[in-house]
Amino acid sequence: MDILFLGTGAAEGFPNPFCECPSCRAARREKGSALRGNSALLINGDLLIDVGPSVLANATRFGVSLAAVHTVLLTHPHPDHLYAPSFRARRYVAKTRLPLLHIYGAAPTMRKLTGGLKALQHRRTTLQQIAHLYRLRFHTVRPFQSWRRRQYRITTFLANHQNDRFVPLLFGIAERHTHLLYACDTMLLPEETWKALRRHRFDAIILDEATGFQDQQVNIDHLNMENFLAHHRRFTTERILKPGGLFFANHLAHFGNPAHRELTRYLRRHNIRVAYDGLRVRL
Ligand SMILES: [Zn+2]
Ligand SMILES: [Zn+2]
Repeated sequence: MDILFLGTGAAEGFPNPFCECPSCRAARREKGSALRGNSALLINGDLLIDVGPSVLANATRFGVSLAAVHTVLLTHPHPDHLYAPSFRARRYVAKTRLPLLHIYGAAPTMRKLTGGLKALQHRRTTLQQIAHLYRLRFHTVRPFQSWRRRQYRITTFLANHQNDRFVPLLFGIAERHTHLLYACDTMLLPEETWKALRRHRFDAIILDEATGFQDQQVNIDHLNMENFLAHHRRFTTERILKPGGLFFANHLAHFGNPAHRELTRYLRRHNIRVAYDGLRVRL
């Protein structure tokens, strides 16, 4: 399994263009790996997790084609993870036979997607017509569901992220003997999710570490460093992460985290990698 981080930042990006905090200033000086767009992951060039507003721009930045993508998994409907106009680019391809794109998300996420797509077209255009124009298929899924899609076995888990407003999902993606967990945009994982996760052994886990050294009380939608590290310990001791498996900090915000170099130094002693835009890993 080949994974490519097409974005590793929180909603406003890192640096936040409107911010002059020390982390944003350091990121502007460091450039390269320190510059983060909205979090998204591309697997084997054909499965994409989340489509925020900077994902297409990052595909361009890293010279990556999305023409082979046949599956999109949407974690939740926040605008940094779901930007419906991105799909419009599929209408304007030339000399390219796009595969039908199957999109999966929980009901509130899919409602936001289809509403966003309809807003782009003439008022009388039906959703069916849009799906035909952009070559899309929509699938509503629930937490703790599992299905096959081409070479993948995909499993959903419930996250902890504004659950009173929508249904946030984590995704397990297995391909032959390789199994990856994508767990961004969550606070402390619910116990029912831990119970379901214990039935799996992951080769790599990508976990939300959005708010870094900020007090957990200030932001209750994401993991801060203390709880991120506690989750890392639990994933390791309960062997949900295979011995020797890879662990990544992702979805990083500037207001709690230092810029890339310093954060990398800090997490190295815990044997945790810091994801960055354009990072490609072979699992
Ligand atoms: Zn987010
Ligand atoms: Zn800042």
